[in-house]
Amino acid sequence: MVIALPAFIRRISVAIALTLCCTLTTSFAAGADDQEQPIVLCGTDAGFDLQSLNILSGTGTLAIDRALVQELMAQSRFFRVRPAFFVYSGGIQNALATPEVFPQTPGTDGTILYQLDLLTEHLNSAYFGGSIVAGVIAHEFTHIIQFSDRDLYSRLSKAHSTVKFLELHADFVAGYYMGTKFSHRSEDLETLARKIFELGDNNFTNIGHHGTPQERHVALRAGFRYYVNNPNSNITAALVEGEAFVTSVFPDF
Ligand SMILES: [Zn+2]
Repeated sequence: MVIALPAFIRRISVAIALTLCCTLTTSFAAGADDQEQPIVLCGTDAGFDLQSLNILSGTGTLAIDRALVQELMAQSRFFRVRPAFFVYSGGIQNALATPEVFPQTPGTDGTILYQLDLLTEHLNSAYFGGSIVAGVIAHEFTHIIQFSDRDLYSRLSKAHSTVKFLELHADFVAGYYMGTKFSHRSEDLETLARKIFELGDNNFTNIGHHGTPQERHVALRAGFRYYVNNPNSNITAALVEGEAFVTSVFPDF
């Protein structure tokens, strides 16, 4: 598959323009090859039609919108990428990332989408539900970095016939991010792990295979533990450590 990745843009200091607004009215550019489907990670293995998503202007609750924007800005600084972010309704309950740049958010580093029912469920799934949402978003930010770093994306893609290593790497880094924010609340990590399990699968040979629930849990906890044991580390080190971990620990069949 030929994948048209956006130019590698790593802005250390950026004017944050994460957005929770806009209505999807224009079809997406299909990339270098119009026959290719845009790549979407965390979509279901049945495929994900970006153009059919019902993009919302927000969650419908101002306080949640504000908290989301605050978290997104924090993660944009932490991960040093600047994706657009949209909430959508209907369709499949999922959170996903794509290198596609929506026409209403030019200049961004791809796009993260979060289904509203799932977001609401995550917010209600723990006393500190916001930490679950933060963990899911961190997983998606890692995909944005993978899209931006061609070499990293290529290595993780070629390491397995499915997207498994891309997903487990994102789980590791999400666990690392959880460690930076919630190292004193490891119970939130377990709740996040359960929620991610629900998005996991056991279709080992399917190209959409994300890793088994157990593998995802191991990756998440390893990332969390990496931060706890290396509190002076940074995202660059975590990305490297995550790649080494997932490609060495998990079976490649
Ligand atoms: Zn994913």
